[in-house]
Amino acid sequence: MTSANVSPEEIARFDKLAARWWDPDGDSRPLHDLNPVRVDFIARRLDLGSARVADVGCGGGLLSEALAQGGAQVVGVDLGEAVIRVAGMHLLESGLEVDYRVQSSADLAAAEPQGFDAVCCMELIEHVPDPEALVRDLAAMLKPGGTLFLSTLNRTPLAFGAAIVAAEYMLRMLPRGTHHYARFLRPSELSRMAREVGLVLDEVQGVFYNPLTRKASLASSTSVNYMLSAHKPT
Ligand code: SAH
Repeated sequence: MTSANVSPEEIARFDKLAARWWDPDGDSRPLHDLNPVRVDFIARRLDLGSARVADVGCGGGLLSEALAQGGAQVVGVDLGEAVIRVAGMHLLESGLEVDYRVQSSADLAAAEPQGFDAVCCMELIEHVPDPEALVRDLAAMLKPGGTLFLSTLNRTPLAFGAAIVAAEYMLRMLPRGTHHYARFLRPSELSRMAREVGLVLDEVQGVFYNPLTRKASLASSTSVNYMLSAHKPT
C-alpha cells in the first residue's frame, strides 16, 4: 500500500472518534451540521443518479451515504480502519450501498485512473502532509469532463479563531489538536493546485457555520470554511 501522503497520528485521531461518528451530538457534530450544505452544493452540479463518485477520506460515511441516497454509485476510501468499519456497519442500518475500502488516495488513483464522474474530498486536505500530491491523485481519478469537489478551512485569523480557539478550546466541540493552522489553505492556493494538475476551476463558495445555533449555509464569504469545484477538460 502506498501511504506516503499521510500523518499516522491524524488517522489515529479520527479512528478514536469512530464509535460515535454517527452521533449527531458527538465529536463529528460539525460534519453532521455541514453535510446537507455540502450535498446540496454537489447535487446542484452533478446528476447523482447517473454518477460514479469517489469519496476520499470518507470517515464514517456521512457524505458517502447522502450521495448514495441521491442515487450515486459511491466508492468511499479512508486509511482509518475503525472509521471504515463503522461506515460499513452503518450501511446495515441505512440499507444503502457504498463500496468502502481502507485505501489511500494514491492507491485509489492507481487502481482506478479516470474511473469517476466526480471525486469528493471533504475536510481532508488540511490533514495531509502534501496537499499538492493529494490534488494530483484526485484529478487522476476523474474521467474527462468529471468534477472535483473539495472543502476545507481557509488560512485566516478568523478561521484560526473559529476552528481552533472556539471549536477546540472554548466550546470543546472538537478534540484539541484536530486542526493545524499551518495546514489550512487559502482558496487561491487550492485553486492554483487544481490548475497545476490540469483542472479548470468552476467555483469557490464560502460556507457559513455557527456552532452555537448549529446552522450551516452557503455564503459569499470564504473566510472560514469553503468549497471548491473544478472539472477535468474533455
Ligand atoms: N470526509 C469526511 C470525513 C472528514 S474527517 C466528512 O467530511 O464527513 C477526515 C478523514 O480523513 C478522517 O476519517 C481521516 O481518517 C481521513 N484521513 C486523514 N488523512 C488521510 C489520508 N492521508 N488518506 C485517507 N484518509 C485520510
